[in-house]
Amino acid sequence: MARYTGSVCRLCRREGAKLFLKGDRCYSAKCAYTHRMTPPGQHGASRKKNSEYSLQLREKQKTKRVYGILEKQFKLYYEKADRMRGMTGENMLILIERRLDNVVYRLGLGMSRAQARQIVNHGLVCVNDMNVNIPSYLVKAGDVISVKENKKDKAIFADVKAGRSVNLPKWLTFDNEGLKGNVVALPQREDIDFTIADHLIVELYSK
Ligand code: SF4
Repeated sequence: MARYTGSVCRLCRREGAKLFLKGDRCYSAKCAYTHRMTPPGQHGASRKKNSEYSLQLREKQKTKRVYGILEKQFKLYYEKADRMRGMTGENMLILIERRLDNVVYRLGLGMSRAQARQIVNHGLVCVNDMNVNIPSYLVKAGDVISVKENKKDKAIFADVKAGRSVNLPKWLTFDNEGLKGNVVALPQREDIDFTIADHLIVELYSK
């Protein structure tokens, strides 16, 4: 499975915003973006990006990077959303928000989406008591997401069991002790925890 393996802090500098890709570190004084906000590269600081196309491109790149999705799969979400009823941009973000790795992150089981993806890849998570190790699996309303019974004592979940607080979106509930979450409803546009101008992405793809 393809994934980006370069420096993730570089991506924040490229997008000109904190993308919170490194868990705790992003909230600490060690955050690289707070020390150097200029885009990476020799001419990064002098780069202009004011054209309509560059704004659209940057918005798409930022969204892909926040969720850790590569181009091909991201475009598939757009195409699927385009075939759905309603607003394409909104549908696309909701589809992406329903990914299992994102849900594991939003439940607080992973400190970042990258860590959540690893948790899923390593087979530590069940959906409705069935082991699912596909990060792009789309959850549905009524699904129960839990940590596999024999993996609950792993050190990675110790903080969560001890009650580490998480800003839980209203479409999810979570039982810290049982390491179990419920998808009570599908996410809505306002549940996306990032400012994304989805109309720019739609404009870019619909050219
Ligand atoms: Fe971005 Fe987090 Fe790195 Fe800061 S620490 S630059 S927010 S990934």
